[in-house]
Amino acid sequence: MDVPGAIALTRIIVTVGPASGEVETLLRLMDEGVRVFRINFSHGDIEQFQKTLERIRAAAEQQGRIVGVLGDLSGPKIRIGRIAAGGLHMNSGDRVEIVARPIEAVDPAPDFAGVRTFRLSTTWPKLIEDVQPGDRVLIDDGQVRLLAIDRHGQGDNARLLCRVTSGGPVSSAKGLNLPDTRLHGLASLTEWDLQCLDWALKAEVDFLALSFVRRREDVEALKSRIAEQVDDKADRPPIIAKIEKPQALDELKAITEAADGIMVARGDLGVEMDVAQVPVVQKRIIATAHDLGRPVIVATQMLQSMIEHAHPTRAEVSDVANAIFDGADAVMLSGETAVGKHPVAAAQMMARIARTTQPHIAGPLVGPRSRPSFLHESRYRTAALARGVSAIVDELGAKMVVTWSQLGGSARYLSKSRFQMPIVAASSNAAALRRTTLLFGVHPVELPQPSSVDAFLRQVDELVLERGWAERGDPIVILAGDPIGTPGVTNRIHIHYVGDACRLGDGR
Ligand code: ATP
Ligand code: MG
Ligand code: MG
Repeated sequence: MDVPGAIALTRIIVTVGPASGEVETLLRLMDEGVRVFRINFSHGDIEQFQKTLERIRAAAEQQGRIVGVLGDLSGPKIRIGRIAAGGLHMNSGDRVEIVARPIEAVDPAPDFAGVRTFRLSTTWPKLIEDVQPGDRVLIDDGQVRLLAIDRHGQGDNARLLCRVTSGGPVSSAKGLNLPDTRLHGLASLTEWDLQCLDWALKAEVDFLALSFVRRREDVEALKSRIAEQVDDKADRPPIIAKIEKPQALDELKAITEAADGIMVARGDLGVEMDVAQVPVVQKRIIATAHDLGRPVIVATQMLQSMIEHAHPTRAEVSDVANAIFDGADAVMLSGETAVGKHPVAAAQMMARIARTTQPHIAGPLVGPRSRPSFLHESRYRTAALARGVSAIVDELGAKMVVTWSQLGGSARYLSKSRFQMPIVAASSNAAALRRTTLLFGVHPVELPQPSSVDAFLRQVDELVLERGWAERGDPIVILAGDPIGTPGVTNRIHIHYVGDACRLGDGR
C-alpha cells in the first residue's frame, strides 16, 4: 500500500506495448510510480488489449495499488499497412507507391537505374483520390518524408506514386500525415473505434482518449455513444481529447469544455503544423485546460532517445521539466515504454525529473500561478474552498489534505491548486478512484462510506495512524461535504491534528 507523496505528484503515464506488457515489467513500472497505463488501440487487436488489461489489473491487485487504464481510440488517424517483420529502410531518392489494396510491404529489388520502389498499403485507401502531386506525405510523425508525384488507376487499382525526400526506418502501422491535403469522408469515429469502444466499456477501461479531434462535436458524438451503452453517468469513462490538428486549436475552448481532459499530442501536431509552433501551442493548450479545471497530459517524444539509449539527452530532460512548469498534470511515455529498450529506466527518469521540478512550479523561477478563472466562475464555492485550503496548508505546514470525494469531483478541483503535498481522495467507489489517477497530486484510497462527517474524521485518523502516514499531533486539513457522500457538496474544512478524532471518538 502506498504512502501519500511516496510517488511524484506529477503523474506519469506509460504506453504499454511489447516492451512492457509482462506482469513483471508492469510491476516494476508501478514501483517507479506509474499509476496510469495507456493501451493504444492503433496497435494490436482486441484479444491483445484484453490480455494487457488483465495483466495491468493483476499487477495492481498484487501490489494493492489503485491504477488507471487509458484506452486510446485511433479516431480518423491514417496509417500505413503491414510491413514485413523486421521493417524496411527507405533512402532519400527511393520511390514509394501507395496502393489501395491491403498488402504486406517487402524490400523491393532496385531497377536498372538502382532506384527502389516500395509498395505500401494504407488504412484509408481513399486518400489516393484526394492527394495532389506536390502534397507532402509524412510517415511516423514525420520521421520519413515523401512527396506525391503522380496518381494512376481507379478503385482497387488506384496507386499514388511518391518520392522519398527524407529517408529512415519504416515499420507496420506507422501514422501517415497529409498536412497539404483536403481529405473527404473521414468520420470522427471509425468502425474500428466503435469495436474498441464496445470492448473498452465492457472491460471498464478507466479513461478514453480520442485522437484527431477537430471540433467539439467529435467529443460529443463519442459521449453520446457512451451514454447509449452506460446508463449511470457516474460510470462513464472520462474522455480525453487529443489535440493534434490545427483545426482543433480554433475551437480549443469549446473542445476542452466538452471533454474531461486534454492531451497535447505532439507527435501528430508537430507534422500537421509547423513544428516551431508546438511549444507555443503546448503552453496555450495547458493554460486553457487549467482555466477550465481539466487535467492535461503532455505526450510524445518526451524521452525519445531512451528508446535506444540508457540515458536521455539534456534537451529531453528539459522538455519534461518544462511541461511540468507549464502546468501539465501528467507527462507521458509512448515508444519509450511500448517498444523501447529501457522502459523502466525511462519511467524512473521521468519520476526523477518530476520530483526535482515540482517544488518550483510556483515561485520565483516561474512566477505565481493564476487561478482557474472559468472554474472559479462555474464552481465558485469549491474554488473558494480550494483557495482557503491552500492558505491553510501553507500556514500550518500541513502534511496532507484529505477529502471525501465520492465521484472524484472535489479531488479534481483541489488538484488544480497544485499543493506541494498529496491530496488523499477517499471514496467507496473503486472505479471513481481509478479515475483520479490522472490528477496531479491526488492519492486515492478506498474506504467504506462514513455515516457522518465526524465518523469520517475518525476514519481518517485511524487510517493515517495505522498506516504511519503521519505522527500524532501532525496537522492535516480535511475537506468534506455535509451530508457526506453527496456528490457536489463539499462545504467543510477541518483543521485536524492527528490523533484528536480518536480521543474524541472514545472519550466524549
Ligand atoms: P499515436 O498518434 O496515437 O500516439 P503512435 O503510432 O505514435 O500513435 P504510440 O503509442 O505513440 O503510437 O507509440 C509509439 C510507437 O510504438 C508506435 O508507432 C509503434 O511503432 C509502437 N507501439 C506502440 N504500441 C505498440 C503495441 N502495442 N505493439 C506494437 N508496437 C507498438
Ligand atoms: Mg505517438
Ligand atoms: Mg497522435
